[in-house]
Order: sequence, then structure tokens, then C-alpha cells
Amino acid sequence: MDTDNTFPRPNRRTFLKGFSLAVSTSVLGFPIFSLQGCQTSGSTSPESNRIQASASAGKKLGIALVGLGGYSANQLAPALQETEHCYLAGIVTGSPSKIPEWQKKYNIPDKNVYNYDNFDSIAQNPDIDIIYIVLPNGLHAEYTIRAAKAKKHVICEKPMATSVADAQRMLDACHQNGVLLSIGYRLHFEPFNKRVMELGQQQVYGKVQRIEAKDAFDITSSSPDIWRLNKKLAGGGPLMDLGIYCVQGAIYTMGQPPIAVTAKLGEVTKPTYFYDVEETIEWQLEFEGGVIANCMASYTQKADLLSGTAENGWWRVQPAFTYEGKKGETKDGPMPFENTYEQVQQMDSQALSFKNNQASVVPGEMGLRDVKILMAIYESAHANGKRVELS
Ligand code: NAD
Repeated sequence: MDTDNTFPRPNRRTFLKGFSLAVSTSVLGFPIFSLQGCQTSGSTSPESNRIQASASAGKKLGIALVGLGGYSANQLAPALQETEHCYLAGIVTGSPSKIPEWQKKYNIPDKNVYNYDNFDSIAQNPDIDIIYIVLPNGLHAEYTIRAAKAKKHVICEKPMATSVADAQRMLDACHQNGVLLSIGYRLHFEPFNKRVMELGQQQVYGKVQRIEAKDAFDITSSSPDIWRLNKKLAGGGPLMDLGIYCVQGAIYTMGQPPIAVTAKLGEVTKPTYFYDVEETIEWQLEFEGGVIANCMASYTQKADLLSGTAENGWWRVQPAFTYEGKKGETKDGPMPFENTYEQVQQMDSQALSFKNNQASVVPGEMGLRDVKILMAIYESAHANGKRVELS
């Protein structure tokens, strides 16, 4: 399955501890609540305690990357050379041709190399504490559940799943096997987006009145055959891949989940690419009190924005979601931050939460919440913009 057809994305490279409600230290020094609208798993089972006992003791936790495509090769594996609490211990791939280079580059022993058939035997490998699923979205559920059954903690890439039922099955499998699940939501670990959380949630400029979030790039420089354009593998089009950042951005600006959505599909201008998934989608998230987030995701446009307007001020991060080159400003001037290697902070934070047997700042419950919202957006778009309430 693991082939060399890695997708040429635009160059995208780019704390905290969890209690049942995660609290992070903000860039301003006051706490930010990151788990709005999520039910946390609460305390974990005795079995989980056993796993944790063996995994803690101060050592770096071993991560196995599942799927050696663009994101693993260009972002996660290099980031794992800089992490403090975890390291790249193993790989799981369907492409035998990739194995020698990965082993050599990252010093991975034969015993820590798996394919998709013998993957389940990773259960017996004490070097691997965490399994990181970096496969096409439609495969997240199967591999997360297999990882949970192997009694390993799991990090799963965004979007968590392509259906609410799958996301729920993933959470259930992790709970039943006493392991923790976290989502690869890297933006919770970098200063520009953390500042947006503060500005919105702490009402630095008064109550938020309006949010705008857009993420788009032109996918049509690549082949129409890529998995991102295949509904079964991707779950949908740019909403699943990019719109998830807009949904996340609006929620962490407000510090609460939306109560309803309305959406409409954009025009299809390139039918040879967009016969299975949408090309462009626009939607509105409605929050308690009537605040609206206007959002857009597209595979033929260019956008990367998270902005907010409040009673006494405004802010804009643009680009907001890309790995590198983020820039932010507020009504008082530029945001004074450097870009960070956010995957390093992300995986270190997740590894620490696993070591401490605590839900991470970006737990599976947050992934499930977001999949429910994505599905409600599609429901509205396919029903001529009907207002869909979120429970
Ligand atoms: P990619 O196409 O570059 O890599 C996908 C990998 O999965 C390849 O190694 C491919 O061989 C393998 N694979 C296994 N079964 C496959 C199948 N049936 N069809 C196609 N490929 C198959 O994709 P990517 O950009 O690395 O994305 C992987 C996951 O990571 C996705 O869920 C994506 O949303 C996520 N991602 C997250 C970020 C982020 O910033 N958090 C960035 C990029 C990708």
C-alpha cells in the first residue's frame, strides 16, 4: 500500500499538560483552555497505568511512524531528531524500497521495521511506546484500532476519521485497551495561534464579534489520481484536509464549539479533478450569542487566514496554518513571535502527556468533536445550506 506517490504539498513545515480539562500556559502567561466542547476520557484504566509504568521512568518514548509519505518524511521524522521526550524508534510501511534509506538515515534497527501485514506484532516490541498514524484519512480508523489493540498509545493525523462512527470506534478501542489517543493538531503548539486563543478567549479586545478563517491551495498541479481527491480515502475534499484548520481556528478563538452550521458548495471549475470530492466549500459556524465564523476551503484557490474582530480591536494571522512563514498583527501592531518547529513541540507535549497518563491538549475527543462538525457542514452543503444544529 505504501507507495512512492507522495503528494507535493506547498512547503509546509513549520504546552502543557492535560488534566481532564487541559490547561496550557499561554504566551502571555495566563492559562488557555484548549479542550472546549470535548469530553475527556477522564482517568485511564489500571491497564493503562501498567503501560505507563513501563513507559515512563524518564526515558524518551519510542514512536513508530505508520506511512512514510510526505508528512512523515519531510516534517515528522526530522522533527523527531529534535524532540526531548520521544524519538523515532520504528517505521511501518508498505514500500520495501523506502526501508534502507530510512533505516540508514535514522538508525532504525531491523527489529523495528514493520509492514502492514505484520504490523500487529508491534505489540511485542518494547521499543515502541507510541504509534503515529500518518496514512490517508480513510485508513486512520483501521490503523488506530490496530495500534490500540497492540496496547500502544496513538497519535493520529488530522482529520481523525472520515465518519463520526469511525472516530467513535477509534476512541472506544483506545479506552477499551487502556491507551491514550491524541490528534496531530500542531497549531496548538505554536505562538501565533496560541496568541489568537488568548485574544479571543481572554477577551483582550473585548467580546469577539466576527471570525474569518480560510485555507486553500491549488492541488491541480498534481495528478487527478491522488488520494486527496478520492472520497473513500480522503473522506471529502478541501474541507477535510484544510477546512479542519478553519474549524479548529474558530473554536480556539471562541473557546467553545459552535452550536450550528450552514454551508454551500462552490462551483466546480475543473471536473477532471473534482468529480468525487468538492473543489471549494464555504460555510458559517454559529456560536452561542450569535457570533459567526465565515470560513472557506478550496483546492483551486489560494488562502491561509485566521482573523478576528472584537469590540475594541482586531487581529489577523496570515499565513496562519502553514508550517513556515506565519505572520500576525493586531490593532496594536505586529505579533512579536518567531516561527517555531511546531511538530517538535507537538510530539513532545503528546509524549509527556502519555508519560504522565493524562489526556493530551489535543485528545481523540477533540478529533471526534471536529469530525462531527465537518459532517454537519457537508450535511448542510448537500441540503442547500440548511441550518444544521450541533448537539
Ligand atoms: P502522502 O500522500 O504524502 O503520504 C501518504 C502515505 O500513505 C504514503 O506513504 C502512501 O504510500 C501511504 N499509503 C498507504 N496506503 C495508501 C493508499 N491506499 N493510498 C494512498 N497512499 C497510501 O500524504 P501525507 O501528506 O503524508 O498525509 C498523510 C496524513 O497526514 C493525512 O491524514 C494528512 O491529512 C496528514 N497531514 C497532516 C499535516 C499536518 O500539518 N498536520 C500535513 C500533511 C499531512
